[in-house]
Amino acid sequence: MKIIRPLKYFFGSITLFFIPFIFLSAATISSQTVLPQIKVSPEKPLQGEPIMVSLENLTSSISVKSMTFAGKPLGVFMYQAKPTALIGIDLKKTPGTYPFVAELSDGKKITKNIEVISRKKIEAPLGIPASLGGNTPAAATSLVTNLSKENTELASIWTGTKAFWTEKFRFPLPTIFITDPYGYSRETGSYEIAHKGTDFRAAEGTQVRAMNRGVVRIAKKFTVYGNTIVVDHGFGLMTMYMHLSKINVNPGELVLLGQVIGLSGHTGYAESAHLHVSVRIDGISIDPMKFMDLFK
Ligand SMILES: [Zn+2]
Repeated sequence: MKIIRPLKYFFGSITLFFIPFIFLSAATISSQTVLPQIKVSPEKPLQGEPIMVSLENLTSSISVKSMTFAGKPLGVFMYQAKPTALIGIDLKKTPGTYPFVAELSDGKKITKNIEVISRKKIEAPLGIPASLGGNTPAAATSLVTNLSKENTELASIWTGTKAFWTEKFRFPLPTIFITDPYGYSRETGSYEIAHKGTDFRAAEGTQVRAMNRGVVRIAKKFTVYGNTIVVDHGFGLMTMYMHLSKINVNPGELVLLGQVIGLSGHTGYAESAHLHVSVRIDGISIDPMKFMDLFK
C-alpha cells in the first residue's frame, strides 16, 4: 500500500498536467485533418456477398449528395446515425477492384477501392428429384422455362425510394439451422442453376416472420418457388420467403419486423418442408447469412 499510493499520486499529477495539452492538440487536428472516413464491411467481400458502406466523422454541416459503386448510384439512408448504403456483389461478378465514391454537399469527393474476391465454385451433382419429374430433358426444360419466367417477374418488382426499416434485420425463424447454403451450382440437364438463397430447417406450418419492416410486393403461388412472399425494405433491398404452405399477407401491405407473414411448407419445387430465404440488393441475390452478419 505504501508503494502504490505515491505511484497513484504521481500518475495523477501527470494526467492533470497533460490533459490540457491533449485536448488542445486534438482540437487542432480535428479542425485541420479529420476527414470523413468510409467504413466498408466486410472489407474484402467474396462474389455473392453484400457490403455495407457507411460514412463516419461527418460534420453536422455536411451531408452526402450521392454514393456510387463502380459508377452505379446507390440508395443512401441513415443507419445508426450514419449515411449508409448497401451493395450486392453478384455471384458472377468479375473479381477485381471497384471504386466506391461518396460526393459530399461541400463538393468534396471521397473514394475507396473495394476488392471483390473470387468465390470457390461448388457444384452439386443433384438434378431434379424423381418426385419433381426426375432427370429427363423435358423436366429440365420445364423447370428452366418456369424459373426464368418467375425470375423475370421477381426482377421487375417496384421498390420504395426510401428505407422502410431502421432496426437491425432478424432471422425469420426462431431456430436457425441451414439445410442448404447459398452459392452452389446444380446441373439440370444442359442448364446450370445456382442456389441463390439459404434453405433453413422448418417443419411444415412453422411461423415465418418478416425479417424487417417493409411493404409486401408479391404474395402469390409460383410453379417453382411455390407460395412466395416478397417484402420490399426500400432502395432495392428485398427479402423473399418461398415454398410456404400459407400466405398471411397481401401485396401493398406494410409489415413490421417480426410480424408473422406466413407458414413454412414445401409448395413448388421442394422435396420436403423448409424455408428458402433470398435477400436481394438491387436485383442481385446475395448470401442471406452474410447479410445477417452485417447486423451482428
Ligand atoms: Zn432453396
